[in-house]
Amino acid sequence: MPIPAVVARTFEMFKEDASFRKLLKQMARKMAKFTEPQKRARFIYKKVDEELAKQFQDPMVSQLVQCKKGCSACCHTQVSVTIEEAELLATKVKDGLPIDWTKLFVQASAGVSSAQFFRIPYEMRGCIFLDDEGQCRVYEDRPVVCRTNHVLSDPKQCEVKDSNSENQPKVQLLNTYAADTWAYTFFQNSPVTGTLPQLVKSVLSEFPMTKKVSDQDRDV
Ligand code: SF4
Repeated sequence: MPIPAVVARTFEMFKEDASFRKLLKQMARKMAKFTEPQKRARFIYKKVDEELAKQFQDPMVSQLVQCKKGCSACCHTQVSVTIEEAELLATKVKDGLPIDWTKLFVQASAGVSSAQFFRIPYEMRGCIFLDDEGQCRVYEDRPVVCRTNHVLSDPKQCEVKDSNSENQPKVQLLNTYAADTWAYTFFQNSPVTGTLPQLVKSVLSEFPMTKKVSDQDRDV
């Protein structure tokens, strides 16, 4: 945190390469043309999705990736986002998408600490945008890390029920270097990065329901 681990690993792998650094600068220039935060996020999503689509043209990739509709194991982990992504997600809530506000507050209280996040009971750790059937309710605008993670190992290993962050099972992910490079550019050039609950709560801080829950917390 705040740069997602997989994305940071891609950067570490190629950072000494001059052409990679040149590519990062080119990507940053393209991204900078989008000054409006939500448009910038959607531009990055388009680029990430294009890179992933190229990879998935290979039938072997589609065959090896284990992620299936309705599997939400990775939606119980800490998700890194940029402030642009948080603004996009918060707009959904402002527009009427209902969320579990208590869950938002409990998750946000962990800050960027994964140790604290995994101490939250499993049922409270599910993403606030997950529905009862295990589907994402903001799929079109889901954060960049929700797009790039594709698991090759047994999906059972994605279960993160242990409350100790050190004991979480290791999963094997598909290498998505090109998409990760766009994600890295996004995180590196965003004015604020953090976790999904932390930044969504922050963007919604003046929203009436957030104020109500805060007042209730203070009264306890
Ligand atoms: S935004 Fe959607 S895909 Fe991402 S963690 Fe939340 S429910 Fe899962």
